Amino acid sequence: MVSTDQPPAVVRRGTNLDRVGGFNDSVVLDAIRRAEQLLSRVELAASTGLSGQAISNITRRLLDAGLVREAGRQKNSGLGKPRTLLELEPTGQYAVGVHLDPAVVTVVVLDLTGQVVARRRADTEAIANSALEPDALIDGIAAMVEQVITEAGAARDRVVGVGIAAPGPIDVARGAVVDPPNLTAWNRVPLRDALRDRTGLPVLLDKDVTAAASAEKWAGGPHGRGSFVFFYLGTGVGAGLVIGDEVVRGTSGNVGEIGHVIVDPDGPLCFCGRRGCVGETSQPRYLVQQAVHAGVIAQGIDLDDRRAVDVAFATVCTAAAEAPGAAREIVAALAGRIAKVVEDIANLLDLERVVFGGPHWDRLAPFFGDSVRETLRERFLVRSVHPFDVAGTALGADVGAVGAASLVLDHTFSPNPSVLLLGPPESAPSGSRPAPAVNTAG
Ligand SMILES: [Zn+2]
Repeated sequence: MVSTDQPPAVVRRGTNLDRVGGFNDSVVLDAIRRAEQLLSRVELAASTGLSGQAISNITRRLLDAGLVREAGRQKNSGLGKPRTLLELEPTGQYAVGVHLDPAVVTVVVLDLTGQVVARRRADTEAIANSALEPDALIDGIAAMVEQVITEAGAARDRVVGVGIAAPGPIDVARGAVVDPPNLTAWNRVPLRDALRDRTGLPVLLDKDVTAAASAEKWAGGPHGRGSFVFFYLGTGVGAGLVIGDEVVRGTSGNVGEIGHVIVDPDGPLCFCGRRGCVGETSQPRYLVQQAVHAGVIAQGIDLDDRRAVDVAFATVCTAAAEAPGAAREIVAALAGRIAKVVEDIANLLDLERVVFGGPHWDRLAPFFGDSVRETLRERFLVRSVHPFDVAGTALGADVGAVGAASLVLDHTFSPNPSVLLLGPPESAPSGSRPAPAVNTAG
């Protein structure tokens, strides 16, 4: 017989990021953010299930806090006085997002509406040194954070925090970057606390693919709704997940490690010791090697030279776009391998969409849309119930940094805040997972 004992409730840590105060305030802010047209207090009450009195109190508080502003009046429908409409005040809060990629650091500032209001990008080797020594790199990131806050013209007390998107695996409890394959000097570096100490701001750390999925949810428009996988193509591949409009993190915040799914048992040897992992067979290095064998590009390229490989990779993609032939077959085979992985994820989780992005996406996009869509049209098993879409991110190279910043804003808006990755526990208010909206006039 199945035990009727309830599993222990998932206790989530609270956050000092939450300056809005109160779960219902978040519900109302989120309703204003998501609405396709401006809402009045009466409509907010209807859409949130909160009482008129509660809405009145909450909107008063949000107006006083500078998070919401009045935006004219509704056209009078004939009865009663015209209702005042509400919208977010963009300058009400700012969030900084940092994307630490082994090759490049991107830093952005988002306003409360999720718009990028400042950005900076720099090669990691230019910030630190060729070894990417952690202290030097973190110093450089902290300086970039200060620069973008200044450029955004954001009042310091309106900057609610910094989100960092870092390559996995990460140690959520310690806010540490554990041992990423392409940052060899980084072994359990406590990046979250180091950046907090340097900037004096609350800092969250999340995995790069999870941040990218969060960005899509926030700023990706229709592609960011519902249930989808964000397939990241960069230094390694990974999958970020959003299910039912919630970012999924898994047990330890390391969801999406798909890099060692085997898609070609006769493929190249991976550092994990097996052959044909999707991560290894998606690397420019492997595609360039194939192109050399096929005579698409000349022999003699140094496959350990990242820049030389990148130039050759661009050449292969250009050749593939120009005419049928060996180059196009190489890239089409890559799309086929990735389609297989997407198919399995989509069927496992009953998703409605894949969104591709990451540093390599722009070059590969022309070869993915139709072929992946065609493959999945046949293999998506619930296609008779709902379709499966293939899309590319509209957020371009900023997607990781925008996602990192949106993790911070998420705490302002989300009725079910994601696992919090910041700060010492003693600074946190009691923080169990909140219940659905409740009618208290608080
Ligand atoms: Zn592997």
